[in-house]
Amino acid sequence: DSVKFGRVCVSRSVMVLVNPQSGRGQAMSLYTGPVLSMLSEANISHTLITTEHQNHAHELVRNADLSQWSAIVILSGDGLLFEVINGLMEREDWDEAIRTPLGILPGGSGNALAASVHHYTQAGPALGEDLLLSCCFLLYKGPVCPLDIVSVRLSSGRRLFSFLSLAWGFVADVDIESEKFRHVGAMRFLVGTLLRLASLRTYQGRLAFLPARDDSDLASISSSPRSRFRQRQSSNECATRNAIGDEFLLENESKNDRLPDNLLNPVGDSVPSDWTVEKEQDFVLVLATCHSHLAEELMAAPDARPDDGYLHLLYVTAGISRPALLRLFLAMEKGTHLTCECPHLMYQRVQALRLEPITKPGVITVDGEQVEYGPIQAQVAQGMWQDYMWMIPI
Ligand code: ADP
Ligand code: MG
Repeated sequence: DSVKFGRVCVSRSVMVLVNPQSGRGQAMSLYTGPVLSMLSEANISHTLITTEHQNHAHELVRNADLSQWSAIVILSGDGLLFEVINGLMEREDWDEAIRTPLGILPGGSGNALAASVHHYTQAGPALGEDLLLSCCFLLYKGPVCPLDIVSVRLSSGRRLFSFLSLAWGFVADVDIESEKFRHVGAMRFLVGTLLRLASLRTYQGRLAFLPARDDSDLASISSSPRSRFRQRQSSNECATRNAIGDEFLLENESKNDRLPDNLLNPVGDSVPSDWTVEKEQDFVLVLATCHSHLAEELMAAPDARPDDGYLHLLYVTAGISRPALLRLFLAMEKGTHLTCECPHLMYQRVQALRLEPITKPGVITVDGEQVEYGPIQAQVAQGMWQDYMWMIPI
């Protein structure tokens, strides 16, 4: 079940975005070291842009003349790509902008997408500098593939686009609490996990989801990712439950009306009848991810593929012991946690979900970035990023 790659042509310059603050603050030295050598060797013309503050990249790509650029390559953690994707999606010409090839080079402390990309190539495990070299090599060779994007609705109605994950409870707390250990790089997640384990707590809430379509349904879908996405949108039109009802559309969002959240009902209404509704209960964590890796050494969803059209939902219910939870995280290093038969761990592929936290206050993260706390909904747009790029051909 390997990933099928396309190829991208590079005729114009590549925008290389570097966040000098990411990870241990080493991204610039990675650029001047292995990345620059590789780009020069491959004769790839590029322009380096270092971000000066949070949201700099977001503003930049929202207003950039994209016709100047062959691709945008991000040398940072997942947070900078999150900015770029949301900046591109806010453009009037968002449906053209999503054809911009994107590439990722791991330069942060949370390099989930880079680790996933490496995993999809079926190469053996690689961490740190090895992972960077692997991604540089991929950039040099140039395969591309479509990428799922998740439309996320926050309680205020604000809409975000996620390429990676949505987390609440243990995982979200570790991500945000470990920010203060960013000087130790990817190790911050291990330190954060051990500290959170010591003060393990539970989180009360409600969870509902639309399970994955069955495989026969999948097989009947056309092979082109773009047309798959289009077909899904149109086949859902007749069953539109609320689509873009006024209460569900922010004033400035008419530009996104070709991408309606057609699987979601407004949070005040009950979920559609074909959804699974879990009983209100105490959770230890809820995590939905589009990709195999959550961090370089954390393979949360081994079977995830970049355009499978699913969120891989994992949740752990209250009652799990500290040693059992630690065992799960240790097993996640190799992705074997799903075979642990832990009665508190649930795994389900879903097309959409709704999470309503009752415990307050709390932390919810989208792609590792903290967002407003409250009810949250999400649905996948399959293969939306047409030319998601892992590499540039010479
Ligand atoms: P890491 O994996 O180390 O967290 P990220 O790429 O996720 O690295 O970046 C961390 C945060 O820094 C993100 O929220 C991003 O928006 C923000 N950011 C980007 N550029 C800068 C900058 N120049 N100074 C400070 N923060 C920045
Ligand atoms: Mg980050």
